[in-house]
Amino acid sequence: GHYKTRAAEASSEELGVEKYLQLFQLSPEMLQEVSARLRKDLLRGLGKHSHHKAPVKMLPTFVRATPDGTEKGDFLALDLGGTNFRVLHVRVEEEAQKVLKMDSQICAIPQEMMLGTGEQLFDHIATCLGDFLESQNLKGKTLPLGFTFSFPCEQLEIDKSILIRWTKGFNCSGVEGKDVVQLLKEAIHRRGDYDIGSVAMVNDTVGTMMSCGYRDQSCEIGMIIGTGTNACYMEEMKNVKRIEGADGRMCINTEWGGFGDDGSLDDILTEFDVEVDKTSINPGVHMYVSQLFRIITPPPFEKMISGMYLGEIVRLVLVKMTKDKLLFKGQISETLGTPGQFETKFISEIEDGLENAKKILTELGLDWDPVDACVVRLVCDTISSRSARLCAAALATLVNRIRNNRKLDHLKTTVGVDGTVYRKHPTSKLQKAVRLLAPQCDITFLVSEDGSGKGAAMVTAVAQRLAHQFPV
Ligand code: BGC
Ligand code: MG
Repeated sequence: GHYKTRAAEASSEELGVEKYLQLFQLSPEMLQEVSARLRKDLLRGLGKHSHHKAPVKMLPTFVRATPDGTEKGDFLALDLGGTNFRVLHVRVEEEAQKVLKMDSQICAIPQEMMLGTGEQLFDHIATCLGDFLESQNLKGKTLPLGFTFSFPCEQLEIDKSILIRWTKGFNCSGVEGKDVVQLLKEAIHRRGDYDIGSVAMVNDTVGTMMSCGYRDQSCEIGMIIGTGTNACYMEEMKNVKRIEGADGRMCINTEWGGFGDDGSLDDILTEFDVEVDKTSINPGVHMYVSQLFRIITPPPFEKMISGMYLGEIVRLVLVKMTKDKLLFKGQISETLGTPGQFETKFISEIEDGLENAKKILTELGLDWDPVDACVVRLVCDTISSRSARLCAAALATLVNRIRNNRKLDHLKTTVGVDGTVYRKHPTSKLQKAVRLLAPQCDITFLVSEDGSGKGAAMVTAVAQRLAHQFPV
């Protein structure tokens, strides 16, 4: 009892771990600096001639309007690139102003498939969709389909979208540089037993913004903090130099995960963040992918924020501390020594309580004492706080930009949010940091109800409404 209380109250300095944790602590001035660097990178991404080399890609989405409440109909949705691959049947009801999920099905994507050929992947997707249509008696219907494909894509039309690069552990051959809609359609035609209607390609951030937009029409930002991280927002068309036209707005998929790709964040990356590149893991595949496949370098900003990497960063810190004899009597268990084995969900579980921490440490095969458990909690808290604050810095850049765009002293806006990391952690740190960095903005956070599913249907619905209003 006494020992335990003492450990719980001890500062990181007393525990001798301060020098490790300090690396991850970002001062308000540094966060301000990060936000300012991103501000410049947003401009590079939007520029006609600078966007090719821009680390933050600022991709046009061809979504020009948020919902106006008159959308309706039945839709299919695919959701690839989050925690699970899913197929959904969604109904948008105008009278009730509701987006209803009629039914949905999770379809596992085996690890080998994430690293196999594109053809295998899309055949699998077409099979899952076919099975779902069969089970729902929808096979003859040819419904419009919203495809939430949560990877950076150069979108040429709402239904033409070229994959720029894989992220989050996917690395299927023959897809980068190709039109994903085409690949999906080809796979469906190879089967020949059903067809789909018009397709709308959607990033999950956009789906999130749009699904919240049906409930709250001031929702003009969508943010994901999940397996990966990213945000989109409504930009003035006149600032989107790559696309003709200066009227109105278009939703821009920032792909802020790539922030730092040109080295601009090197001064805040720790040795552990750099190390993650080498162990760039696939969840569940307990081996170094880089030894077997070409090396996938994770996007720098994403690496410090998102669920794909947070657990691994914590693991690397714990391993180092153990080697330096600060933890577990200097003994690393086999599990702790294996890349990918410290899951990101452990972080929030450990933060939730000391008892959880002890349970998890035991499961990891570690010989811990109460001081160890406290140190591990400190490490988890430090890494997840950094994630929240960096995200806040980026969000502050976006809201400040929207405020300046509209020449407002004060902006009141809503951010639609989703993602496992956001949902599982207390959001107070994120909100506090944004308030500090964007004092003239008043932000409401709205957790999206299945933005990746319902939002995709919403985008498809809005696209259909516009097509009927303004036929070409
Ligand atoms: C992808 C984004 C996506 C984000 C969240 C990132 O890895 O590049 O397109 O929005 O993950 O899922
Ligand atoms: Mg999702």
